[in-house]
Amino acid sequence: MDLFDKLRILSDAAKYDAACTSSGVDRDGKGGQLGNAAACGICHSFSADGRCVSLLKVLMSNACIYNCAYCLNRVSNDVPRATFAPRELADLTIHFYRRNYIEGLFLSSGVVKSPDYTCEKMIETLRILREEYGFRGYIHAKAIPGADDLLLNRLGRLSDRMSVNIELPSQQSLDKLAPDKSKSAILRPMGLLRDGIKENCTDLIRYRHAEPFAPAGQSTQMIVGATPESDYQILQLTAALYQKFSLKRVFFSAYIPVSDNPLLPARTISPPLLREHRLYQADWLLRFYGFSANEILDEKHPILNPLIDPKCNWAINNMALFPVEVNTAPRELLLRVPGIGVNSTMRILRARRETKLDFSGLRRIGVVLKRAQYFITCQGKTAQGVRITPDNALNALISDSQKQRLPSQNYEQLSLFSDQITREDVVKCISGQI
Ligand code: SF4
Repeated sequence: MDLFDKLRILSDAAKYDAACTSSGVDRDGKGGQLGNAAACGICHSFSADGRCVSLLKVLMSNACIYNCAYCLNRVSNDVPRATFAPRELADLTIHFYRRNYIEGLFLSSGVVKSPDYTCEKMIETLRILREEYGFRGYIHAKAIPGADDLLLNRLGRLSDRMSVNIELPSQQSLDKLAPDKSKSAILRPMGLLRDGIKENCTDLIRYRHAEPFAPAGQSTQMIVGATPESDYQILQLTAALYQKFSLKRVFFSAYIPVSDNPLLPARTISPPLLREHRLYQADWLLRFYGFSANEILDEKHPILNPLIDPKCNWAINNMALFPVEVNTAPRELLLRVPGIGVNSTMRILRARRETKLDFSGLRRIGVVLKRAQYFITCQGKTAQGVRITPDNALNALISDSQKQRLPSQNYEQLSLFSDQITREDVVKCISGQI
């Protein structure tokens, strides 16, 4: 098999890993126009200093000995297999880098022979890159659960970011769909990476020549929609992972049906992309807005609202806290106003040190009021023509396309036997209020 075939197979096999984002688009170049795009192969990620870098996203091998039901590379699946030799992959990366196609490498792998064997091959690839070619570009490497601690440590010294995929949200689901994996085998390397990164931070301060260990931190990926766990369970787990393992990111990956296994959703079911999107929004609230997982969802309301984002949903359910006075509200409460993000909050806090803010002042400092005006007052006054009521607020939060999904507000005689869904029912359904 020539190198191009290997690259085609192994970059395609890597596209299901959401821990960094592929372009997701296939578009050929055209005469007289500029550029093309490939759904797999080159992806984007963020380095430790926040730069967006393009990476060669590839597997070391897709010849996996495990049989995870949700994975295209499972041993029982009849797909073409390929494995890079470490030097082959290192040379390829360097050639791509020199041609300016990529700025770094995202390297994962199926488990070939054993976790240790696979990890050794990955280490050898990165060693050639770092030590022989002196490559100082960004490298994101997947830790192989079950590999020896010393090997993971070595991999961490050669990489900028590492990740261990948690894959499924519970041990029961792992037992069913990925019998070769266990939660403890996945969490163990996460703990090891956390300790290594923490220790390394101290070393880097103390010793000028300390060797960095995964300086861009660690991340993980969770498949959403392959198993019955609710959004509530997924968010609880996400919050616990951030807390216990100091993860930089938890990536959610909507399950793409790749198998006829009766334990999995049918192939005809589309990937739950909206759910994935809502989970990312909720994840944002956990990381930047000071929300706890229990505030976003609870056992009685375990599913994220598909019609409005989780922050708006929370605001509608907590209308008693609004309106807030922008000139006196604490940062934590400003952050919870729909339409006011982290940057706008910062601008408000800075501006109000100098002056009393009114609505035109908010506009001048760049705060978008379209939604926020239903939740705030300025110097005790509401925005002109705005009446703050839960109904008005809800109206402002739902997009025009979503409004079309609401039944129109036609008044009709109530009937005990009517089975029509009313607008009020939908509003209750959205806000979770009875
Ligand atoms: S170990 Fe990874 S590559 Fe192998 S079958 Fe499971 S998910 Fe796929």
